[in-house]
Formats: sequence, C-alpha cells, structure tokens
Amino acid sequence: DDPGNIKVVVRCRTFLKREREKGTKCLIRMDPATEKTTLLAPEVDPEDQRKSLVEDKEFTFDRSFWSHDESDPHYAQQEDVYKSFGEEFLDHNFGGYHTCIFAYGQTGSGKSYTMMGTDENPGLIPRTCEELFDRIQHEPKPDTTYHVQVSYFEVYNEHVRDLLAPPTIPPVYLKIRESPKDGVYVQGLREEEVKSYAEIAYHLKKGDNSRTVAATKMNDTSSRSHAVFTIRLKQITHSITSDETIERTARMRLVDLAGSERAKSTQATGQQLKEGGQINKSLSTLGRVINALAARGQDNKSRKQRQVIPYRDSVLTWLLRDSLGGNSKTAMVACIAPSDYEETLSTLRYADQAKRIRTRASVNQDCMS
Ligand code: ADP
Ligand code: MG
Repeated sequence: DDPGNIKVVVRCRTFLKREREKGTKCLIRMDPATEKTTLLAPEVDPEDQRKSLVEDKEFTFDRSFWSHDESDPHYAQQEDVYKSFGEEFLDHNFGGYHTCIFAYGQTGSGKSYTMMGTDENPGLIPRTCEELFDRIQHEPKPDTTYHVQVSYFEVYNEHVRDLLAPPTIPPVYLKIRESPKDGVYVQGLREEEVKSYAEIAYHLKKGDNSRTVAATKMNDTSSRSHAVFTIRLKQITHSITSDETIERTARMRLVDLAGSERAKSTQATGQQLKEGGQINKSLSTLGRVINALAARGQDNKSRKQRQVIPYRDSVLTWLLRDSLGGNSKTAMVACIAPSDYEETLSTLRYADQAKRIRTRASVNQDCMS
C-alpha cells in the first residue's frame, strides 16, 4: 500500500471579456514561493452589515497556479499544469496505480478549460492521452503488450448517461452495480478499445458533442452535469526467463464536476429547481463525503467508532468511492474566478478540507505463471 494525501491545487483564471470591460478588480493573490493563495476582501459599503464577515483569507495548497495575467512571469499555461502533476499521475498509471483527477469550482471558473481545454490550448485530458500513446509507441517496456480502453459518461440529475453511445430520445439511463471483482461500476457502459491518440481524440470529441447536444436541448446541462472520462491501461508482461506473465491494470479517471455555485445564487424554478436540487444532491453528498473523510484522516478512533462515509447517498460519490477514499492516487484542481469573493471562499474551504484526505493506493497486478 502507498498511503498519501489527496493532492490539492488551485488555479485562478483570467478575466473574461465582460469582466475586463467592467473594470472588475482581482481579489486573488498567489505567492509562487510559498504556494500561498490569498483571497482579498472586496471593498464593501460601510453601511453593509455583512462587512464584519468579509476579510482577507489565506490558504496553502500543494500548488497555486496563477493563470490570471499572461504578462506575469509566473503565469501558468496549460502545459505547466500538465507538467506539474498530470505527468506524475500518468507515471503512476504505468506503475499500476489507479488515479483520479477532478476539477471543482463554480460555473465559469475554468474546470473544462483545465480538464479538456481548447483546440489551441489543450488541457489535462488530451495531453495525458497523447503522452500515453507517445510512451507506448516510443518507449515500450520489453516483452510488454499494451491495451487501452476508454469510457465516458455523465451524471445528470442522479442519472448516468453513456456519452459514447449514440444519443437517443428519450435518453437511456444506465444502472450502477457492485460486484466483489469489479467494485462499483456502470452496467452496460461502452468501453472502447483504442490504439492511438487519434482514436481517443475521436471518442472524446464524440462524447463532448453528446454532452453539448443535451445541454442545448435541456438548458445548459453541462454546468449541472458531472462528466467522467476513464482510461483503462492494461500492461501484460511476459518474462521469457522466468516464464511468468504479469498483468497490470490501472485506471485513470478525469472528472469535470458540475458547477458548485449554491442553488440560492441561481434563480432556479420548476424543473430547473428540481435538477438543481438533484445536482446539489451529488455535490452536497460529495461535500459530506469529503468532510467525513477529512475527519477520519485526523482522528484515531478505532474502526468501529468511525462514522460511516455516506458514499451511497449519491450516484457520483458511490461511483467515485475508490477514487475519493480508497485505492487511488487522487488530485483535486480547485478552479476559481478572480473576483467572486463568496463563491471563491466556498471553493477554497472545500479544497482545504480535501487536503486532509488520505487514500491508500496499491499496485493492481496479477501474476499468472
Ligand atoms: P467551467 O467549465 O468551470 O464552467 P470554463 O472552463 O468553461 O468554466 O471557463 C469559462 C471561460 O473562461 C471559458 O471561455 C474559458 O475558455 C475561459 N478560461 C477558463 N480558464 C482559463 C484560463 N486559465 N486561461 C484562459 N481562459 C480561461
Ligand atoms: Mg464546464
């Protein structure tokens, strides 16, 4: 076993055009020497009663990515984000460990930009996939064959939808199952065998389109759905000298969570409110799971006295159980907008809790001689 804390990094995005036009003030400072992130109190009306609640807040994370101001020498590009931990996580996969990277933050904070990115500035997912095949093609281990499979699903309104299956009306929802061998899994989810980066890119695009099509039909689901892209890497090594076959299967999960903004700040009504409530169910359960795991990391109660972690209370947390508190090396990217005090404070506090979580990763390997 390899126990370790969840790696938590924070990334602050640039101003959007409309923010720049309004002359918005940036409330975030990052100190590259100490990885400290400071959230500055906005200037408030002296008559405002909430004033006393508003003050500067300081946090320290494993990394603080300053992607706010391109002219700054410490500006973090997509490549810097990948190099600082995406690459390391890919190393872990080749070593046989399960990994998970998830992006948390309010809508518009840069989650999809960080995970998927754009054609000109690809994010963690395409970079990881490209590097994966680069290694397989250019530096394979001796006597090893590689098999790569991908799957892509979204959790929307507590339903699981396969993003690699052709979209249908009405949509097909998949069931979640649990087995001793496979753990928790989505029944009937497509797992596509891929042999090159181009093939992965094809499936990624297809999945993203499927998410977008639904989004325009159903009122921007993308900010309210959780998208989970999974790469399964199987390495079969046959040693000629010992006549042993070793099989390693590691999974990498890349998760773009729904927007974390609280229901109160969106003027939700009717169906939207219901959806919002349901999404809140997965996100609020994630919050409770993180709190419970963080508490477990700190206390030394016996197994029996420990509180139950409420994984089963939502679809998302049930599916991510291993990634959150089990056999996985896990990282969280907390994405923040530069000028939203309340939402940013809530995201940074969430990330601060996540830092306390410990997982126990072990190499997933079978020896068949
Ligand atoms: P989210 O997925 O959290 O809702 P997006 O990733 O869609 O947010 O980001 C919102 C907008 O901000 C997009 O137009 C995106 O291109 C832009 N953006 C986000 N992060 C960055 C960044 N680090 N650098 C440049 N543009 C960014
Ligand atoms: Mg997004």
